[in-house]
Amino acid sequence: MSNENDLMEKIVSLCKRRGFIFPGSEIYGGFANSYTYGPYGVGLKNNIKSLWWKKFVQDRENVVGMDGPIILHPKVWEASGHATNFNDALVDCKNCKKRFRADHLVEDVAGVDLEGNLDEMKKILDEKVKCPACGKRDWTDVRNFNMMFKTKLNSTDGVTEEVAYLRPETAGAIFIEFKNIVDSMRVKVPFGIAQIGKAFRNEIVAGNFIFRLREFEQMEIEYFISPGVDWESVFETWLQAQEEFALELGAQKSKLRRYEHPKEKLSFYSKKTVDIEYEFPFGGFKELFGLANRTDYDLSNHTKHSGQKLEYRDTESGEVYVPHVIEPTFGLDRSMLVSLLAAYTEEDIEGDTRIVMKFPKKLAPVKVAVFPLLKNKPQLVEKARGIYDELRKQFACEFDDNGNVGKRYRRQDEIGTPYCVTIDFDTVGMGEDAALTDTVTIRDRDSMKQERIKVAELANWFVSHLD
Ligand SMILES: [Zn+2]
Repeated sequence: MSNENDLMEKIVSLCKRRGFIFPGSEIYGGFANSYTYGPYGVGLKNNIKSLWWKKFVQDRENVVGMDGPIILHPKVWEASGHATNFNDALVDCKNCKKRFRADHLVEDVAGVDLEGNLDEMKKILDEKVKCPACGKRDWTDVRNFNMMFKTKLNSTDGVTEEVAYLRPETAGAIFIEFKNIVDSMRVKVPFGIAQIGKAFRNEIVAGNFIFRLREFEQMEIEYFISPGVDWESVFETWLQAQEEFALELGAQKSKLRRYEHPKEKLSFYSKKTVDIEYEFPFGGFKELFGLANRTDYDLSNHTKHSGQKLEYRDTESGEVYVPHVIEPTFGLDRSMLVSLLAAYTEEDIEGDTRIVMKFPKKLAPVKVAVFPLLKNKPQLVEKARGIYDELRKQFACEFDDNGNVGKRYRRQDEIGTPYCVTIDFDTVGMGEDAALTDTVTIRDRDSMKQERIKVAELANWFVSHLD
């Protein structure tokens, strides 16, 4: 591929053309930074979630799952620190009224990171920074805006309204269930609680498709450990597991790297944070997954604010303590983007460009497409329908009789379907070779090679080839 920016454009266009991802609220002129996952997009997304759940919950004896509410008691966010600390420094241009991230403007122009220091930011803005939109230098004060989405709950008296928030991260829902899970599940430290769900951040977002969204989905684990344990080695084990998962999405090893946050830039709850970064086609390496040591910050603060002791009693030693927590976080939308970017392939086939999405087979939204060779031959269509009806009991399947077989292959290549099955005259005993009756051709997405398989053996063949 000639140009990396090109690649993003090609992905965005393919996603819309083939039903993976549509721009949000498009018939109303669009709605910035919102997207709809279409039929194949939700298929891909569900497959990523299943892969994650299998790897991190089902395959592990000491990780359990849960699914908490998006709107939690507002005190959760006081305890977690989000109510006071989860801010973006924003500034408005008085001339054109556009709003910007003040820290980003200052960092771009002066090359310094003044995180949190609003007065200093204002000074540098007034001295050196022109509005990127209109070129004037006429700034308001720099102000902190909380990034949580606020909402109001109706009350039964119809008068008072209670303020609540859409959760800015999924973790809070997990911490407040610590006690219920310890009491009901007989888990022993070290153990993890996993959750997949939406989180919301009211940010000023600068495009890049589904990379950064105000409404996004996280896959997170809170992994509780004893405060006395060698946490660095636990941390390293999780980092490796996260890297493995990135490879399972299809990411090339050379496009992954680790980035450790410098001490002075750590989030307010973290003792150590390392990002697994992916080299995106816009702006190079950027965060894909994160791993943080949140210490006992959350459990201790929820204990303080709720008055409920969130402790763990070691049944063997009798020791009672507040566990520390290692938190692997995976952005689901970013995982989608990486699997799309990594899968996208252009091949030159006798002067024609073949676009093919080489998803790992586990992630492909459609596993098998079934075609009758010709649409207007009832014997072929009927036989193909029968095979399709059988296969779809086990696999995500699609039936296609539109256009010629070449066109159908091209479409399935762009969807990333690993196998296409064609029912022809030989299959129904109308061909020249009677020995081919009740056989079909299977075409492989990547090699484009075809082989003939007995209809009776199809399901087993796919079981062994799709794993
Ligand atoms: Zn301006």
